[in-house]
Amino acid sequence: MAKINDNYLKLKAGYLFPEIGRRVRAFAEANPQANVIRLGIGDVTRPLAPAILKAFHDAVDDLSRVETFAGYGPEQGYDWLINAIIEKSYNKLGVSLKTSEIFVSDGSKCDCANILDIFALDNVVAIGDPVYPVYNDTNVMIGRTGEADDKGYYKGVVYMPCNEDNGFIPSLPTEKVDIIYLCFPNNPTGVVASKAELKKWVDYAIANDAVIFFDAAYEAFITDPSIPHSIYEIEGAKKCAIEFRSFSKTAGFTGVRCGLVVVPEEVMGTTTSGETYSFNKLWLRRTTTKFNGASYPVQRAAAAVYSDEGWAQTKELVDYYMENARIIREGLKEAGCTVYGGVNAPYIWLKTPGGMSSWDFFDKLLTECNVVGTPGSGFGPSGEGFFRLSAFGSRENVIEAVERIKKNLK
Ligand SMILES: *Cc1c(COP(=O)(O)O)cnc(C)c1O
Repeated sequence: MAKINDNYLKLKAGYLFPEIGRRVRAFAEANPQANVIRLGIGDVTRPLAPAILKAFHDAVDDLSRVETFAGYGPEQGYDWLINAIIEKSYNKLGVSLKTSEIFVSDGSKCDCANILDIFALDNVVAIGDPVYPVYNDTNVMIGRTGEADDKGYYKGVVYMPCNEDNGFIPSLPTEKVDIIYLCFPNNPTGVVASKAELKKWVDYAIANDAVIFFDAAYEAFITDPSIPHSIYEIEGAKKCAIEFRSFSKTAGFTGVRCGLVVVPEEVMGTTTSGETYSFNKLWLRRTTTKFNGASYPVQRAAAAVYSDEGWAQTKELVDYYMENARIIREGLKEAGCTVYGGVNAPYIWLKTPGGMSSWDFFDKLLTECNVVGTPGSGFGPSGEGFFRLSAFGSRENVIEAVERIKKNLK
């Protein structure tokens, strides 16, 4: 018989969102009259902006005519999209990048997972706790870890606890690590890192020949002008950081699928025999071999985000969600909760009242307020005692949910 990759068996069963789904379904079946408001899963709810939708339609029409038909495109993305990204997303931050340093993809989740292909298994990785579960689980699947302990920490991974004491910003690892995952604005905690904070990480990476994986999926939600949108705003980062971005949350592309990876040519690793080698070259080789590009209409739609109209409409969408975030944040504070995030990120991270466990608070909100959120413990052991609410709902639902929670907690 063919052998399975039994690293997969190390993964803990009962993944967070299926368990939430199970509890919500059971409740809804037992209480069919309840109007359940879902602020759990981090998915957008507003339709695509009109300028983006028009470009998407037009691109589909292109496929209907011999003269404008598009077949296979460049695996790493069309130049017209890459150049728009460089100009509108990076040059305005004072960051210059080459066309060859950007790789357009069908989303950031796959990118965060696939990047592991070009790194040797004996690299030591450091991961935040709580964290976007993809970083951890993909390292388990590829075989970098041992088994999980009772807490859910896998052997061989360096976990960086993020808690109230450190403001949910991890401390530098005390041992030498080779790969560091950072995500700011953070999912699930909603906190951001200042330039000084990121500088600390870049300095560490350079001093230790480490590579930072910087997940900037939520950069569009930053409202404070002093907060960096890209790790490349930090001097030296082009030598040590790979950045992941996505159109998913920024422009409502969770169902459309488009993301990008930045791999600067200066980011180097070593071969087994000790020579230095460029990760950019490896990633290009991987991309051209294992991927055939994001679809043509999707890339046209993504490029429309950077048109004047598309840009303004996208900003409106982001502002809509951030007003939701403000309503949730202020409302919970009025209800006496300790809250984090929600200012530069579409997530509100609240401390469960009275030291309740994350899942107990989940059940309380579900059964007493008919509001669904996400238990913090599902993102890692340090998330225990916390709870995530997402600002991606409709205004009406957000207001209603906050009113119910306020009434319940007062
Ligand atoms: C939503 C999200 C992404 C983006 O995923 P896509 O595959 O591009 O939809 C990446 N990182 C984090 C932390 C996210 O929450």
